[in-house]
Amino acid sequence: MIVAIDGPAGAGKSTVAQRLAERLGFRYLDTGAMYRALTWLAISRSVPLAQGERLGELAEEYPVILDAQRRVWIADTDVTSSIRKSDIDRLVPVVARHPQVRSVMRARQRELAEEGDVVIEGRDIGTVVAPDAEVKVYLNAERAVRAKRRMAERPEIGADALATDLRLRDESDAARMRPAEDAIQIDTTGLDVDDVVDQIEELVRARQPA
Ligand code: C5P
Repeated sequence: MIVAIDGPAGAGKSTVAQRLAERLGFRYLDTGAMYRALTWLAISRSVPLAQGERLGELAEEYPVILDAQRRVWIADTDVTSSIRKSDIDRLVPVVARHPQVRSVMRARQRELAEEGDVVIEGRDIGTVVAPDAEVKVYLNAERAVRAKRRMAERPEIGADALATDLRLRDESDAARMRPAEDAIQIDTTGLDVDDVVDQIEELVRARQPA
């Protein structure tokens, strides 16, 4: 079974998807981490972020590895913490919008999804990567709440800069960020993580064969 969890930054996708995967005994696939790792590599190799062709080649040549310990690797480098910085937050959408990059990433994500029993989080999972996913969820929350959640994870920048970054990222991601028609939408603004996980777990159990 494939569980697709999409939504904007700060909606709670990662925490919810990881906890859900643990409860179900499913694998967890963080597609944002793949785009982040490629962005990190492009910057470290001074590849111009406007060059879609070159970035697509880079993605092809250096597959991102998400290991069982949830560490993120690219080009033999552990980038788990380097990709969670505000400069990467700002630049990922620039890399992720290139069709050449998306086609390499999506092909790899589909391969990983096909192994089954997986919770996949991203922006375009329910719409493009896994349109046949048995369970599709779109998480959202008020922007002020999303910014507040991010603050705990990005101590290096202030509240105002963070709110601006989030708004700009929402705008850059808007083209790829829409709920699938058959997605269940959950507003996580006033909800605890476990409440959200409970709701999705119920959907999964209802679709699992008896
Ligand atoms: O989910 P996360 O914030 O880690 O994603 C980082 C960025 O990667 C997003 O802002 C978006 O630009 C890009 N992304 C994407 N498609 C996905 C997942 C992430 O374009 N499926």
